[in-house]
Amino acid sequence: MQPWSSVPVPRVPGTPRPLRLFDTSAGSVEPTEPGAVARMYVCGITPYDATHLGHAATYLAFDLVHRVWLDNGHQVHYVQNVTDIDDPLLERAERDHEDWVVLAMRETALFREDMEALRVVPPADFVGAVESIPEIVEAVGKLLASGAAYRLDDEHPDIYFRHRASGRFGYESNYDDETMRGFFAERGGDPDRAGKEHPLDALLWRAARDGEPSWESELGPGRPGWHLECSVIALNRLGLGFDVQGGGSDLIFPHHEFSAAHAESLTGEFPFAKHYVHAGMIGLDGEKMSKSKGNLVFVSRLRGDRVDPMAIRLALLDGHYRTDRSWTADALTAGAARLARWRQAVELESAPSAEAAVAELRDRLSDDLDTQRALRAIDAWAEEALTTGGSDAGAPALIRTAVDALLGVEL
Ligand code: ZN
Repeated sequence: MQPWSSVPVPRVPGTPRPLRLFDTSAGSVEPTEPGAVARMYVCGITPYDATHLGHAATYLAFDLVHRVWLDNGHQVHYVQNVTDIDDPLLERAERDHEDWVVLAMRETALFREDMEALRVVPPADFVGAVESIPEIVEAVGKLLASGAAYRLDDEHPDIYFRHRASGRFGYESNYDDETMRGFFAERGGDPDRAGKEHPLDALLWRAARDGEPSWESELGPGRPGWHLECSVIALNRLGLGFDVQGGGSDLIFPHHEFSAAHAESLTGEFPFAKHYVHAGMIGLDGEKMSKSKGNLVFVSRLRGDRVDPMAIRLALLDGHYRTDRSWTADALTAGAARLARWRQAVELESAPSAEAAVAELRDRLSDDLDTQRALRAIDAWAEEALTTGGSDAGAPALIRTAVDALLGVEL
């Protein structure tokens, strides 16, 4: 698929700071130590609905990872998928009497527009599940041949992954058996599917059903399972041992655990990713934002209401990416006010020196993306510039460049 349009990222004078991130698997903040090319995979959308603020917050967090690596002189190979065939998409299409292909194309196009408006640096590879089916079929064949997968003896001969096949199952989430079973049932797994060897075994290939789309293949007609889609797209573009596997915290289990286990079984090597990094969930006025509650706030709706996307960006960054937090009208008002203040300050002909503020911005972001304190560093500079003033004629431009490059906010 075509990603969205590129976003220019200027170079910032001064000294970059290497990035440290909280790694779910390690349970601690760890240094990222990418090579010349930093490699990142972030799980993409299932395009049955528009981008809500929870999605936006996740992609903004990993956009900052991207930007801090660029600041450190790395090239970044960023890959993101689009799950353009899966049960939720088919269910929504059926509910709305719509063609699932048209639904997926429309929501993917809207997602691209939202990401572009939010100035998220696009992935180099933006890859759909449907276009990856030949790669996925090949991988399922390998897993069957090695004994990591088995086919059900059933009217619908689905293919499943023996969840312990890699020998390391559980290292990514560190969840105990009971927690795994709970999330597996809650997040798209099928523990009660008759004929499986173990409730936690995950679907790799769903054999064709009447009324469902399917693809011919050497496995028989069917469609891919979700976790393997990400394993294969990542492996075939980034290779094993890439730097960061990212997504929302609801992907810790089963999705990322299985993506890792599939890839490690396919290659016989470890680890799938060096770091597993997860963003918190966004609620609305203290309640979890979810489609079942009908309280989703869409980026496109806010854009339709003429909200400046940079204010949305600042509102979402005024909270730590790992914490579950709430979206409120006040948060958006505060984001808009901050944006206005910063814009006013960078319009000044001279201001207090900005080097310390930029150094603080880099320090805070490199420390597991402490955006709240990073924003306050710029607030403090803007406050002084607008009240006391200063004589550094280059300071407003330096702040404008640093805020653009490191926070993705265009002033
Ligand atoms: Zn994924």
